[in-house]
Amino acid sequence: MDIIKELEKLRREHYWNASDCWYSCPKSADGSCNDSEMDECTCGADRHNRQLDRIINYMRTNVPRTESQDPDPNIEPPAFDLVSTVF
Ligand SMILES: [Zn+2]
Repeated sequence: MDIIKELEKLRREHYWNASDCWYSCPKSADGSCNDSEMDECTCGADRHNRQLDRIINYMRTNVPRTESQDPDPNIEPPAFDLVSTVF
């Protein structure tokens, strides 16, 4: 599993309300009809995506890739020997 690719799937789009654009996020593709809204995200997508970026950056810099993240499907995993592990 490519964890970065899986995390990227969690990225959010800005909210867009098809029936009443008053409630759309100003940063959505068609923007908001509420002129009092500035060009700031009101739907939480920016905050969510910033947090996601922090997690992805942390994973890229601090978590080394291991074989367990990307197992070779042709290799049988070793049998777990509980007795010799415990004692
Ligand atoms: Zn938004």
